[in-house]
Amino acid sequence: MPTSALEHPWGHSTVRTACPLDCPDSCTLDVTVEHGRIKKIEGGNANPVTHDFICAKVRRFGERVYGEDRLLYPAVRQGPKGSGTFARVTWDEALDLIAGRMAAIKAQHGGEAILPFYYGGSNGLITQNTNDAELWRRFGTSRLATTVCAAPTGAANLALYGKMPGVVYQDYPQAKAIVLWGVNPSASGIHLIPFIKQAQAAGAALVVVDPRTTSLAKKADVHLAVRPGTDLVVALAIHRVLFEEGHADWAFLQAHTHGADRLRAAAEPWTIERTAAEAAVDPAALRRFADLYVRSSPAVVRCGWGLERNRNGGSAAAAVLALPAVAGKFGVRGGGYSMSNSLAFGLKSAMWIDAPEPATRLVNMNHLGRALTEYATPPVQMLFVYNCNPLATMPDQNRVLKGLQRDDLFTVVFEQVFTDTTRYADVVLPASTFLEQYDIAKSYGSISLQLVRPVIEPQGEARPNAQVFSALAERLGVGVEEEDAETLLRITSRMTNGIGTELLERGAATPPHGGAPVQFVDVFPLTDDRKVNLFPEAIAGDAPAGLYGYQPDPGTERFPLALISPATEKTISSTLGELRERAAMLHINPADAAVRGIAQSDAVRVFNALGELHCPANLTVDVRQGTVAFSKGVWRKNTYNGSTSNALVPDSLSDLGAGACFNDARVQVALLGRH
Ligand code: SF4
Repeated sequence: MPTSALEHPWGHSTVRTACPLDCPDSCTLDVTVEHGRIKKIEGGNANPVTHDFICAKVRRFGERVYGEDRLLYPAVRQGPKGSGTFARVTWDEALDLIAGRMAAIKAQHGGEAILPFYYGGSNGLITQNTNDAELWRRFGTSRLATTVCAAPTGAANLALYGKMPGVVYQDYPQAKAIVLWGVNPSASGIHLIPFIKQAQAAGAALVVVDPRTTSLAKKADVHLAVRPGTDLVVALAIHRVLFEEGHADWAFLQAHTHGADRLRAAAEPWTIERTAAEAAVDPAALRRFADLYVRSSPAVVRCGWGLERNRNGGSAAAAVLALPAVAGKFGVRGGGYSMSNSLAFGLKSAMWIDAPEPATRLVNMNHLGRALTEYATPPVQMLFVYNCNPLATMPDQNRVLKGLQRDDLFTVVFEQVFTDTTRYADVVLPASTFLEQYDIAKSYGSISLQLVRPVIEPQGEARPNAQVFSALAERLGVGVEEEDAETLLRITSRMTNGIGTELLERGAATPPHGGAPVQFVDVFPLTDDRKVNLFPEAIAGDAPAGLYGYQPDPGTERFPLALISPATEKTISSTLGELRERAAMLHINPADAAVRGIAQSDAVRVFNALGELHCPANLTVDVRQGTVAFSKGVWRKNTYNGSTSNALVPDSLSDLGAGACFNDARVQVALLGRH
């Protein structure tokens, strides 16, 4: 059994820990440490789902820990905003400065003038929504709606099923048909791939719905390269086949659901032919998908996050998640759907956050640019950024940049490395990585809960989030400072059913139902009456065109191309973006390139009314005609002009969940130059 490196600081040891980054898999890690330094990061064999392989991203995480961009000391800004020049200060000086500024802003403008800003950069249960939440709540700051990802799918999953746990990876080989919808496991959640291969070897059919021809799409029985934003109508077309051609499971619908008739009415107009025309796919392929799904059992739909990033995203997720209920696919191993299994252990942060949530201003994080430049009652006077890099990741990048450049905005960035956002900080605080602190890794693909142990001492003066936020709370008179180990003990003591004790003793908790529940056998909807809401009234009114109402493509003659920004094998959202060396490319279909006089590797200008992006072009038939792709998570240094795809993304919101509409960017592309 691996032991803690901290007990043997100058020797050689292999330390068992887990990866808490924003990825569905939560790998067990075995980290080899020599003389206090990380030598190797490998997969541990304790997790039966992730086995002993991990992604290339985390294998090179040591390059982040020891890299030249690592933040090692607290610092305060010296030159003009954005100049990137800082002077080292002590932790006490930095925390006193921040606490003093918070108190002054609250006295003058009220607590709502302070905006905490965070996301899943360190997705562990201790690093976020613990001592930070206590501080913000007790001090009465603005609240943040964390909607940049998973908000539309989360809203749909919650409304339909109460976030019932889904089919886990290891049950995929039981399926006769697998539908990968808006998800690319080759880039994120890689441990699903071996199970898909196993299922295919046993004769399972594979359907992929994705505007790109991903490596799995190349091996699929049916690939629908849909026009971005049309997933909703494709799902409704499958529902229409189920309802109108006699394949709906009415016995299941009557016993376990509400709202089937209203879903049926919404699907009724979407014939195969009309849908194929709207989604720009072959009607025969769409029909083949429907037939495969109808006749295969068990059949599983892996609902991803790519389909939510547009104006119709929430309804699309709801329609996709409703498929197994209408088709009667539940009740067998390998049948049903997979979405997020984050609630499988029944853990919610409300179990350990004692402070009640105040009714202060709620800021949608997708509107950060607006909040910084337009909000007036009160204006945002302090932005406290942690676990995220908003200048690289938020929509409407130019407006975010304008906000960060405000001289009267006091910005704190608490980070591991010098990100795009760090450059605009007034105070920089160095954060420890998950290899330098305690945390708890909860997966949302498989079902696992593991202890994250420190394998090395923090570099420089880096500190864990839990310690820093509690230290600030103590300075402001609303809390008591604690170490991350103390926070770990406090939180695990609140976990019910002995989960916390087992986690501390064994390093992992035993998952419910052997970690592989069967939907409608072991687990049921977590709705009030344990039934599926196929037309949930609670959210139906939120959608501008009504639930399952389709909003047409926002493209115009001037900006006809759909720009999408899918995840890649290089970064976890924008994490590890500092290690990218070469310019990121715009992927464009050769037919779209030809009419614009663009050849391979030409410098291109991608533009719309919000901004422009300059980068090299990569001509590939793997992107459908009419769509261009630029990688998610790229930092500003990796384009020719310091803008990424997010400079072209509107800050409009999805129909449900108020999520980001990254894939609603419509652009034009022109030749910029030839090398
Ligand atoms: S990012 Fe995902 S695949 Fe990579 S090590 Fe972490 S959990 Fe595993």
